[in-house]
This record gives sequence, structure tokens and C-alpha cells, in this order.
Amino acid sequence: MIDKILIANRGEIALRILRACRELGIKTVAVHSEADRDLKHVRLADESVCIGPHPSIESYLNVPALISAAEITDTVGIHPGYGFLSENADFAERVEECGFIFIGPKPDTIRMMGDKVAAIRAMKQAGVPCVPGSDGPLGNDDETNLRIAREIGYPIIIKAAGGGGGRGMRVVHSDASLLNSISMTRAEAAAAFNNDVVYMEKFLGNPRHVEIQVLSDTHGNAIHLAERDCSMQRRHQKVIEEAPAPGISDEMRKKIGERCAQACVDIGYRGAGTFEFLYQDGEFYFIEMNTRVQVEHPVTEMITGVDIVREQILIASGEPLSYKQSDIKINGHAMECRLNAEDPNNFMPSPGTITTYHAPGGPGIRVDTHIYNGYRVPPYYDSMIGKLIAHGPTREIAMARMRNALGEVVIEGIKTNVPLHQELFRDAAFQAGGTNIHYLEKKLDEKKQDK
Ligand code: ADP
Repeated sequence: MIDKILIANRGEIALRILRACRELGIKTVAVHSEADRDLKHVRLADESVCIGPHPSIESYLNVPALISAAEITDTVGIHPGYGFLSENADFAERVEECGFIFIGPKPDTIRMMGDKVAAIRAMKQAGVPCVPGSDGPLGNDDETNLRIAREIGYPIIIKAAGGGGGRGMRVVHSDASLLNSISMTRAEAAAAFNNDVVYMEKFLGNPRHVEIQVLSDTHGNAIHLAERDCSMQRRHQKVIEEAPAPGISDEMRKKIGERCAQACVDIGYRGAGTFEFLYQDGEFYFIEMNTRVQVEHPVTEMITGVDIVREQILIASGEPLSYKQSDIKINGHAMECRLNAEDPNNFMPSPGTITTYHAPGGPGIRVDTHIYNGYRVPPYYDSMIGKLIAHGPTREIAMARMRNALGEVVIEGIKTNVPLHQELFRDAAFQAGGTNIHYLEKKLDEKKQDK
């Protein structure tokens, strides 16, 4: 069993990992930048190491500094959280070469999933449904590319194999702009991701984002923990997530979930992971796999009772999964609001000192946050300062509890997106369930025009 873990992250997820370690009796090492000395998990950890100045590149992305911190503290395992180095195959490889346990998939798996063309190929082979597309990278022959696009049928989307964070994509509606769009996406991808490989997919007009959570151990066991709907997005960033997804039947869940679990067995997947799908007209289309714990993992924990971070640590320790598929039962409904330090009207970041903080509470409410009275939100990192999670026996009750929590929470000194969440929880279409990935952007556009 791993008895000491270095947490290679910051903020709420670092605290979440620390809590899981504490429960398991595992010692913790917090690493932090010079700007993050006052993070809550740094105060609570058994040991802490300052790994560099505030720019992420010199601290949270600084591999030699992280490895040195692990060495001087006699760390056994390294948990990367999400973001930062969590999906960096070279980092995972370095960790293992230096004799530490990487709490995540094998480096080769991370590398494969980081290349979307390779990921789609592997998933197709495993029988996971994918978006109709070019089945591989686009070449330089114009006629062939035009033919592929016509066969798929416009609109199509050109995507960078190495893309991420919603960048490196372009929608094309006709032959006229196809070739130019391919060259532009290629050039952008080369500059942004150091990889000019692009591919083509059918562009789906009104999909929802539905993803499947999986856990897979090193003994050949894999299970799925049902799905999450993360369609409420702005600029490809998720704002609200829920589980289960409205309108997905038990039969559909079983079918797609078991496919994903089987794919994990087929590729020798290790740890927690998420299969992201676009869902439209009753069909699932795989778009990518995330090889790490996700921001929205709590909604799945609330409806299944499974502690995903704990399972990650146990799997990395070589333990078999604590659950069989038949143990997994869905209990009620859960929703999550991401709380950001930002102006709810123009989305500009709003760092600064939190002068007053009161947490919400009551039945079914969970708050995952590192903030406290007097905590200063630094301007250097992601603006997410926490997550409000509401669980209830039905979607309606979970929503009512979330409305209460949003009304109760007090965060003063900085601006937050709480008012936006309050508005969304009053929105009739969202309340009905099943809004698509364009819904929030459209609503925000309409609001702007009304002004
Ligand atoms: P990234 O790794 O950059 O997040 P994804 O492949 O996950 O890229 O796509 C991000 C988002 O782009 C999706 O959530 C969806 O909104 C949109 N998108 C991607 N592929 C398609 C498609 N084939 N049709 C319609 N929208 C798409």
C-alpha cells in the first residue's frame, strides 16, 4: 500500500486528494508556488515544499522541482489531480523512471489518448461508437480531402489531433472554404500544439455532452459509474454538471457503459477515466478520453456512493477494485455548480481577498472548496474557487437544494458567478432538462442583445 503521497496540484482538488489520503491513513506532501503558501491543503498536509515562483511553468509544471520534492520527502506515490501535468505522458514516465508510483494510467495510455486520432482508432477497434469522420489524419491531396468531406456530408469540423481545451477546431459548411480551413487549422495546430496533424468529423448540430466515468484496476477488472451530463458550457468550459443525464434510459446506460468498461479491459487501462461523448438523437459519439480525475467527479460520487479518488489510490497501490458492476446502483440525482472568481456579467477574472465566506449546508449539500475567510485568490491560476454539489432523491429535489445553497452561500470581497448559477437554476429549459451544448452561449448572446 502506498503510504505517502505527493499532491502535484493546488486548490480544491489538492484538498480533495488530501482528504482521501487522510481517510486511508496515508501521509501527505503538499507542493506549492510562492503565491500559494496559504492554500488550505498546504496548512493541513503533513509536509509541504515550495517548488518555485508563481508562474505555473516554474512551479506546478516544473518537473525537476516536483521530482526533487518527491525525493527529499521520501514520497511513494504522486497524484497529479486534473489540469497541470495530469495528462502529460512524459511527466508520468519521468515519475515512474524515478521510482515513484504515478496515480493514473500508464504513460503509453496517456500518450495514446492525447493523440485524438490514435484514441479514436483504439476506440473504434474496441467497438465504442465514434463520430463519422476521416478515419485518420488528413493528407495533403486536395481532391481526396474534398471527397472525404462530401462523403461525410457538410457541415464538418476539422480538428487538431493534439488539440485540447476547446482549441484547434474549425467548422466548415461547404467545399468553398474547406481547403483553406484545413491549412489554417493545420498552421494553428503546429503553432499551438507542436503537431500539425488534423482530421475531419461530421459536425453535429445540437448535441449534448454526456460522459461515462470508468474505473479499471491492474487485475483485469473494469466497471462504469454511469454518466454525467455536462452540456451547460461556455467556450467549451463546463459550468454545471449533473448525474445521471436526463433522458438516458437504464438500457442505454448499460449498453454504452459496458462498452466503455470493456474498452478499458481491451486497452489495459489503469485507474479512473472518462469517455467523453456527444449525444444526439439517441446516439452516442465518442470524442475523447480524459485519463485523470475530473472536476465534476463529485456528482458521480453522490449518486453511486463510490469515492473515486480513494479508488484511484487503491488501484495505484495494486489493489483490485472495491466494487463489481452489480454493486453499482444509482441513488437519486446530483448537480454541481462550478464557482468561479469572475464577474458574472463579462466573465473577467476577479481575484482578491475573500473578506467574508459562509458555506451553505443542509441535506444533500456538499461543498468542495479551498477558500476561507481572509483567503486571497491569486490572479495567476484558473478562476475556479470551488464547487457546490447538491444531491437529492429526484432531479427536482436536487435542484431545489441547489437553489437553497446558492441563496445561502456568502462570498464577499471578490465577484463570483453565483448570480449566473441562480439565473440558470430559474431557467425553464434547464429545469426541464436535456439542453444542448450551445444553450448557454445562445442565452448569454440574447441577454447581451436585450441590453
Ligand atoms: P478538447 O480536447 O479541445 O476539449 P473535444 O474533442 O473534447 O476537444 O471537443 C470540445 C468541444 O467541441 C465539444 O465538447 C463540442 O462542444 C465541440 N465539438 C467537438 N467535436 C464536435 C463535433 N464533431 N460536432 C459538434 N461539436 C463538436
